[in-house]
Amino acid sequence: MNNTLEYMRENRLPHIWCPGCGNGTVIGALIRAIDALGLDTNKTVLVSGIGCSSRAPGYMKFDALHTTHGRALPFATGIKMANPELNVIVISGDGDAAAIGGNHLIHACRRNIDITMVIINNNVYGMTSGQYSPLTPTGRLATTAVYGNIDRTFDLPSLCGAAGATYVARASVYHVAQLKNYIQKGLENKGFSMIEAVSICPTYFGRRNKLGDAPAMFNWIKENSTMYKQGVMEYDKQIVIGEFVNKKDPEYTKSYTELIEKLGGNK
Ligand code: SF4
Ligand code: MG
Repeated sequence: MNNTLEYMRENRLPHIWCPGCGNGTVIGALIRAIDALGLDTNKTVLVSGIGCSSRAPGYMKFDALHTTHGRALPFATGIKMANPELNVIVISGDGDAAAIGGNHLIHACRRNIDITMVIINNNVYGMTSGQYSPLTPTGRLATTAVYGNIDRTFDLPSLCGAAGATYVARASVYHVAQLKNYIQKGLENKGFSMIEAVSICPTYFGRRNKLGDAPAMFNWIKENSTMYKQGVMEYDKQIVIGEFVNKKDPEYTKSYTELIEKLGGNK
């Protein structure tokens, strides 16, 4: 492992994230996965939308695109279609990916385009001060749900698996070794990979829901998570960690290239 800082734009530090935010832990896992695979940093592109987690590419030494809210996947799709040999990685948050970008997410899964998406799920819109998102658990408090959220939540792995993603996994900022391994496997998969990283926002979600400080929130994740077992449908804990989908299906840019060749190639 090279020094993690070799992958960081140190001149952009200090970062804007609050003390105890989970974003740094997820970025650390992503960097270790990239390093373990020895990906060429000149052929690896990071794309993000808007939100606290979407600031990450700005701190990392890769070509990067910081785009508009929810639209990281269309930009990433364009990059991959134009240049299929690039490693394209999207870093997104729960609001960015599952609300405004939700439609892009299901269609990227359906196409099985070779993009790896890390969705940092801190259960809330952090950057805009704690509004509830499609991943805020039912009953939890948020700036826009002061009496408790009555919406049900998406289960991202089920959503992405049903939509056609070929690698789907979930870990957390507590399960750091799994997180790095799942991201690594997602990067190796030739198709659409979604890795949900359950994270913490002590500033808004934790404080409003009286979950304590960052170490207490890490402990909360530890005590409320369980490992996925194939065939088991019901779990008594709220956070199920594991690999849910790992399969082979035709990849979109490959199918597109084959179609162009069949039609006589680019002239
Ligand atoms: Fe992290 Fe929440 Fe602070 Fe945003 S508001 S930087 S998600 S702790
Ligand atoms: Mg969020």
